[in-house]
Amino acid sequence: MKQDFYEILGISKNATPAEIKKGYRKMAIKYHPDKNPGDKTAEENFKKAAEAYEVLSDENKKARYDQYGHAAFENGGGAGGFGGGGMNMDDIFSQFGDIFGGAFGGGGGGFGGFGGGQSRGRARVKGSNLRIRVKLTLEEIAKGVEKKVKVRRKVSAPGATFKTCTTCNGNGQVMRVTNTILGRMQSASTCPTCHGAGEILDKRPKNADAQGLEQKEETVSIKIPAGVTEGVQLKVNGKGNAAPGNNSVDGDLIVVIEEIKHDTLKREGTNLHYDLYVNYSEAVLGIDKNIDTVSGKVKIKIEPGTQSGKILRLRGKGLPSIDHYGNGDLLVHINVWTPQNLSKEQKKFFEKMMNDENFTPNPSKFDKSFFEKVKDMFS
Ligand SMILES: [Zn+2]
Repeated sequence: MKQDFYEILGISKNATPAEIKKGYRKMAIKYHPDKNPGDKTAEENFKKAAEAYEVLSDENKKARYDQYGHAAFENGGGAGGFGGGGMNMDDIFSQFGDIFGGAFGGGGGGFGGFGGGQSRGRARVKGSNLRIRVKLTLEEIAKGVEKKVKVRRKVSAPGATFKTCTTCNGNGQVMRVTNTILGRMQSASTCPTCHGAGEILDKRPKNADAQGLEQKEETVSIKIPAGVTEGVQLKVNGKGNAAPGNNSVDGDLIVVIEEIKHDTLKREGTNLHYDLYVNYSEAVLGIDKNIDTVSGKVKIKIEPGTQSGKILRLRGKGLPSIDHYGNGDLLVHINVWTPQNLSKEQKKFFEKMMNDENFTPNPSKFDKSFFEKVKDMFS
C-alpha cells in the first residue's frame, strides 16, 4: 500500500496551503540529499515528500486525491504515462526549488552536486503544457479506452543547434548587485537573453521559429482508465510543447475528460439509472423487456402485477469506480403508462372494473413503499 500523502508530510487532512508547504519544507530539509549523502532511504523519503507536495499543492490534483486516493493518478492499464509517481530529482528541484529558500547552499543556482556527481546550476526549462478535451461515452468510461488524438505541439526543429548563452555563461541566471543602506546586495534573476535556458539558438533551420522550434502535428495515444468522471484531468508526460535548448524538457499534455450524455442511462457516481415504461397490460400480466446497459442490451423480467415505481437493481451493471472498489449498480425504475385515449369499449371495460375488488389499491400488501425503497437504495 502506498503511504498517505498527508501522512508523508506529517500534516492533517484539513491542512491549509501554508501548512502543506510548511510540512513539505520540513520533510525536504530533513531528507535533503545534501544532508544525507549516500543514504538511499533518505533519498526515497525526499522523493516521496516531493510527490506528496506536487499533488497537495495543486488545488486540482488535491481535490482528485481527496476523492479517489492514489488511484486518481494511476493508470488502469498499468502502462506508464500519467502524472503522479516517478518524479526524478531534476523535476523536484525545477518545480519546488524555491521552497527551500536559503536553507541549503545559497546564492546563484542553489544546490550543490548530487545524484551521480552532476552539478546543476540552473533549473531545466520546461515547455508549456497543452490541454485537450476528450469526449467519452458511458460505454467507453465503463471499460476504459485508448484514444488516439491529434495534437499540434511545438517540437525542436530538426537541424536546430544551440550554443551556450554568453550573457549568463549558461547559468540561466544573472546576478545583480545593488547598493542599499545595508550595503551591497546580490540577487539572482532570470537571464534576459536566454530566458533561463542557458542556451541560445545557434543555427536556425528554415521552418523554425526564433527559438528553434516548429509546429508539428502528432498522434498521441492516451490510455484512459475505467471509471473516470467529467472534468477529471489526466497528464501525459512530455507531450506538451517543447522548450528551446538541448537541456530543456517538453511540457505535458493535460487531457480533460468530458462525458457524452447517454440517450437512456443517467449516471450518478458509479450507479446508473434507467427509466423503463411499461404499458398497463404489461404491468398487469408481466413481460420480458430489453433494456440498455453499458455493455449492451439485457433482458429483464417484469413480474405479473408489477407496481409503478418499483425499482429493479441489477448488481454490478453500473460503472466501475476509478479506485477499483468494484462496480456500481444499474437501477431500473418501472413506470406504468396509464392509457389516455380509450375507445368506447375500453372505457366500458375500465368502468366495469372501477369498483372491482381486484382493482382496489392495497398498498400494505407490498413489501415496501416507494419511499422506503428509495431510502434503502441510498443507505
Ligand atoms: Zn542566458
